[in-house]
Amino acid sequence: MTVLDHKPETSFGNNVFERIESEVRSYSRGWPAVFESASGSWLRSEDGKDYLDFFAGAGALNYGHNNPVLKSALVDYIMSNGITHGLDMETVAKRNLLETFERVILKPRGLDYKVQFPGPTGANTVESALKLARKVTGRESIINFTNAFHGMTLGALSVTGNSMKRAGAGIPLVHATPMPFDNYFDGVTEDFQWFSRVLDDSGSGLNRPAAVIVETVQGEGGVNVARAEWLRALADLCADREILLIVDDVQMGCGRTGAFFSFEEAGIVPDIVTLSKSIGGYGLPLALTLFKRELDVWSPGEHNGTFRGNNPAFVTATAALEEYWTDDALERGTLRKGERIRQTFMNLADMFDGVSTRGRGLVQGLVFDDPSDAQKVCGLAFERGLLAETSGPSDEVVKLLPPLTISDDDLEFGLNILAEATAQVRA
Ligand code: PMP
Repeated sequence: MTVLDHKPETSFGNNVFERIESEVRSYSRGWPAVFESASGSWLRSEDGKDYLDFFAGAGALNYGHNNPVLKSALVDYIMSNGITHGLDMETVAKRNLLETFERVILKPRGLDYKVQFPGPTGANTVESALKLARKVTGRESIINFTNAFHGMTLGALSVTGNSMKRAGAGIPLVHATPMPFDNYFDGVTEDFQWFSRVLDDSGSGLNRPAAVIVETVQGEGGVNVARAEWLRALADLCADREILLIVDDVQMGCGRTGAFFSFEEAGIVPDIVTLSKSIGGYGLPLALTLFKRELDVWSPGEHNGTFRGNNPAFVTATAALEEYWTDDALERGTLRKGERIRQTFMNLADMFDGVSTRGRGLVQGLVFDDPSDAQKVCGLAFERGLLAETSGPSDEVVKLLPPLTISDDDLEFGLNILAEATAQVRA
């Protein structure tokens, strides 16, 4: 039988999702409910059941569902006939976003970045970052890391680790060389020993790279946290060898780890930064590529895209920056709530063999030696009204990404469900 003969069993099911939506759908399989409305940290299904959301649109809803402050800015904008689709034309909404981003985010951090609108998805910003790095350096090859995830388009996929996702490309994925992420050898081998050795050895076979692309915490890869000193050493290595450093902050940026940018804690300044997911604020598609001023070698239109001017997302992005980033209340709350999750997970790790934990801020993972346990915990959690997802190469990590705005009571409620589910699975 060839793939072309394959008739998926579910294609004749009696609901429209099974009947005509592609087999490629995935989250809907783990969370079999039809959702109708949402508010803050909660979703409601059409049969009236409430679900607490510990996944927050894979990190696209850091400020919760239908955040009232952002919603009112959006509704006002729409009702005033503000521009909806603007290509890359200058608009009032875009000017407001750029001015606010400069004042609230860049200036206070001493960052002199230019801002590119690369198209609205995470993969769009990653593609633009890779293209720019290649154009600036005139080199082809990129260094990526084991268990990295950067998106599903061919360039982004070429620097992604997951073999199942890579196989989906159907063609060779080239010009990327994986290096071990922090702690890949459980601390046994000195970090960067291999990387700096092959860079310096003219017989190593490594082409001189244009850039290194790294996540400070690998979200899809299993909540693998790079230590601040590892990130600093990586930044130093890149600077010494004139290799551009790209930090992919699509999932960990916009406050997920506490500070607005996830690399702030390490005190490094990447050459290029990718942002998407929560930068739009309201769950509306928006991405930004930030780069040092001297790297802005693009010719007009050399990278483009029809949906770069998602003006309603500019409006909600601006409102989110004004509401949450003009003081440090959100950042402090994120660190405090993250610590609360960590304590709960440490207790579970102490209570049950084969369970451990890792994370930063409000991205925390509960790691199971037996990957099927992680799936079972998420299945039980769903039955009890909690949405949580697995990540990692074998889906062995229950990954928590609650909205940063979640209330303490809701957080406690969800953690109790997870603790009970873990106890039931490990009993
Ligand atoms: N980079 C990272 C770090 C991501 O986590 C993701 C999405 N999970 C992407 C890029 C790709 O984003 P998108 O799905 O919007 O293309």
